[in-house]
Amino acid sequence: MREVATLGHRLERPVLAVGLEGRAKRCFLLESDAEVKGATAEEHGKLCADRKRSTEKALRGEAPVAPAHELPEGGEIDLADLDGCPYYARVLGADVEGVSETLRARPASPAEFEKLCRDDNLCAYELSKRLLPKATVVVAPYAFFFHPHVRRSLFEWMRAEPSTIDLVVDEAHNLPEYLRELTTVSLPEESVRRARDEVAERGDFQLPNGPSATRFFDVVRAAVEELAHALVRGDDAVLPDGVFEDALLRALGGDNHRLDTWLGALATWGENLKEERRRDRRLPRSWVHTVAITLLSWPKLEPPRYAKVVTRLPRPALEAFALDASAAAAPILDCHLSVHMSSTLAPFDEYRDALGLGPRARSVDAPSGYPAENCRFLFDRSVSTDPDELREDPRAIARLADRIAKVVEVLPVQTAILFPSFELMRQVLEAGLQTQLPPNPFVEYARLPTSDLWRSAEGWKSEPASPVLLGVAGGRLAEGIDRPDDELGAVVLVGIPYPRPTAKRRALKQYLNRTLGRGTEYAVRAPAERAFRQAFGRLIRSANDRGLAIVLDRRAAAFADLLPGLEPIEDLPRVARQFYGRRARWVSRPPASIPTTSADLAPEDSEPAADPSATDEPRL
Ligand code: SF4
Repeated sequence: MREVATLGHRLERPVLAVGLEGRAKRCFLLESDAEVKGATAEEHGKLCADRKRSTEKALRGEAPVAPAHELPEGGEIDLADLDGCPYYARVLGADVEGVSETLRARPASPAEFEKLCRDDNLCAYELSKRLLPKATVVVAPYAFFFHPHVRRSLFEWMRAEPSTIDLVVDEAHNLPEYLRELTTVSLPEESVRRARDEVAERGDFQLPNGPSATRFFDVVRAAVEELAHALVRGDDAVLPDGVFEDALLRALGGDNHRLDTWLGALATWGENLKEERRRDRRLPRSWVHTVAITLLSWPKLEPPRYAKVVTRLPRPALEAFALDASAAAAPILDCHLSVHMSSTLAPFDEYRDALGLGPRARSVDAPSGYPAENCRFLFDRSVSTDPDELREDPRAIARLADRIAKVVEVLPVQTAILFPSFELMRQVLEAGLQTQLPPNPFVEYARLPTSDLWRSAEGWKSEPASPVLLGVAGGRLAEGIDRPDDELGAVVLVGIPYPRPTAKRRALKQYLNRTLGRGTEYAVRAPAERAFRQAFGRLIRSANDRGLAIVLDRRAAAFADLLPGLEPIEDLPRVARQFYGRRARWVSRPPASIPTTSADLAPEDSEPAADPSATDEPRL
């Protein structure tokens, strides 16, 4: 919104910008309903659609009870007695033209827009939709454009054709991964367990010429468990062709045709349950439906665009992993033009090819303009996180711990230490680092919900109890924390931030080799380059920032083209004294234990964690 204000200033006329957010953040009516908190966008949309339909009927006099125009004292609404939505009723009567003039004169941040709506008991979601046809700039999360159903609605609300839209993708380096995730189909073992419970609670039933529904889910669950146990040694493993289907048919008897009949019956049962729950104004959800639909789609998710894997981390599941992000990115090419921006977008070729943007895509490298000498790149030749080395040398982890402690000891500034994984961070802390660091470091736990992480990070930023922050390269802290004005003075990268060598990563590498001949370059080297840029980008956020960027890995020499002036560490205390001069603040620090437990560090969860609330959602 600040950028919109600047645009308006330059154009010498006000610009109306409308920010969109999902109903989860903007539905005032159902925000305190515990069941709705875990709803998917589709489920929440159905509940909302029913409320809106009732409201419109009531206002037309076709239903007995119209929602009150004024909310009860204190704003508490008894949802059980209410068919419609008073916030929507208020939007129907709102002066949308007046609101748009207000926002044109002064662009509102999301928080300001929410306040404006709350003060007037207006539904923020519906009001922003109604403002869209008047808007010049629309700001929205990726899902609004890349989810096919939502995109169709978005264009309708905007009353615009794609060919009239200039698309700006911010933080674009995330887009290929986001699109692969969006089109990946996952069947977590947990969803199968919930589906079985759903049937058991309502009464088991027999599938046509087949097993009972509970037996069917027991067999599916056992198959997922056994495949994970038999095949996975690390995070995941490739699923041999047809092995899952064969396991089901062996246990249940029958053939693929009968399997489809059973799944069809389960899908219908689940659909009916969803409708029943919807009629009762409850979340229209059925785990049976979710599992049945996923299994029905399973045979169609075939190579070359999908790789089938069984995972143990972060959760036991079957996955059809989408290798090709370009199909989901195709709507970009329908726009009048698109601009993709990020401070870590390079390597540009990889981004362009991953999204299928074609040879006409132009890249513009816009340097920050900050003085190059403000960041000095060093690397340590005495250590490495090379997996072979860590496996073969029992002292390697302890040596890393000692080395990190010595480096931190001589850095007189706030320092972020970033590891390639939570697992390695745990091992290094337990190998002695936790007793050698200054007290109360800020630690990014794998399982900490994102909202809690940011709240703690804000607290640490305003009142740092320690000069040290520990996180994971490419993780949430490395991606998101900003320490402007010279507050973060050093970043220590422990090892090379290559992506984890999972079965999915290997499948992606093979796919990119087959399709573009650039598997290693695009699937291994490019993510590492971005993680380097992301990690060290935290240091220099303004022209006044200065910092040391240190890689504790001899293999850093292979990335010298990314790290200008990269030099081996010779005498770090002397370099630190010269570089920081009298800015030193954290000089004498007694070592102390980190107030964490090994359980907090979640050894089994070695990937940067997604928001756990998302794990409850059925994923199609
Ligand atoms: S109209 Fe708005 S407040 Fe009412 S149910 Fe829908 S999203 Fe929620």
